[in-house]
Formats: sequence, structure tokens, C-alpha cells
Amino acid sequence: MPKHSPIHLDPRSPLVLDTRELPRRPGALRTVKRVVPAPADLGLELIGVPEGADLDLDLRLESVSEGVLVSGTVSGSVQGECGRCLRAIGDSLTVTIQELYAYENSTTDETTDEDEVGRLQGDLIDLEPALRDAVVLALPTNPLCRDDCPGLCPECGVQLDELPADHSHQQIDPRWASLSQLTRKEE
Ligand SMILES: [Zn+2]
Ligand SMILES: [Zn+2]
Repeated sequence: MPKHSPIHLDPRSPLVLDTRELPRRPGALRTVKRVVPAPADLGLELIGVPEGADLDLDLRLESVSEGVLVSGTVSGSVQGECGRCLRAIGDSLTVTIQELYAYENSTTDETTDEDEVGRLQGDLIDLEPALRDAVVLALPTNPLCRDDCPGLCPECGVQLDELPADHSHQQIDPRWASLSQLTRKEE
């Protein structure tokens, strides 16, 4: 499905911005400050914004000649798992949004790809694709609980920093193993 496919937008949806109050006169400004629940799957496999968690929208909508420029920040909390030791990670995230949405049937609409420039649908803007892109770019693909996390012991799977420095697993020498079998037979 293309990124800005013309699906019918619901003006009550939390990540849909309604520009009816914004005059279509270059320079006109409106601010949007609201807290909305995060959509599902906002993030990457190991780390992301939990579904339903608060997303703080602090945005500026500005009329430009061919459309509306949306800029500002979205912040929220992220939860994930350390890629080495699997410990839970909690953090906060603020992403910057700066995205132009062209009016339907404007020159920009006719001369650009929907992948380059977003589109208004009537008076509505779907912020979700731009938000998803920004969040995914801001998150680490391999999140770590700390930079020098030593990870897990490959033998027993326990977190290495919970174990003594001399932690090791005895490898039974095959010669001793057969010896111990001998002694067992004698018993
Ligand atoms: Zn870790
Ligand atoms: Zn171990």
C-alpha cells in the first residue's frame, strides 16, 4: 500500500489534523497541542512506544502557497528490551516533525509524487505516516541497556554482569569422562 494512499480519514482519529480552522492564506498559523494515545506498532521490533501510551503533540500548522506545513515535536515514552541481555529498557523520546502537505489539485499535487510530499484530503491531514517514519528513524535498531552491556553467558544464559568475574563452566575432558564411567562400573 502506498504511504499516502487516499483512504478515508476520520477527523476524530487522534493522529488526523483538521485544518478547517486554518485560513488558506500563506502565513496563517494554528497550533495543535494535544495528548493522544499511541497507535499500535509504533516503533521497531525490540523497542517502541507502547500502544495507548501518551503521545504529546506540539505542532504548528502553517499555510503556505500550495498547502500546509506541519512542524513541531511529538514526545512519548518508549519501552523495549536490551538486544544483548534482554533486560527491559524504558526511555523517553522526542521526534521532530517537518512535513509539507499539498492541497488537492494544487500544482504541487500534480507535479510531485505522494512519496515526496504528503497530501491533504479535503481539510484533513494524516499525521501517522510522518510520525511513524520519524519514530523509526529515532529509535536504535539494536537497543542496549547500556553501551558496554556484556550480554548473557553463552553457556547458562545468565546476565554476565550478575555473575562473578571468574564465572566459567567446567568442560569435562573426554578422558576424565571415560574414567568416571569406569569407576561407576566398578561400584
Ligand atoms: Zn543489556
Ligand atoms: Zn554461565
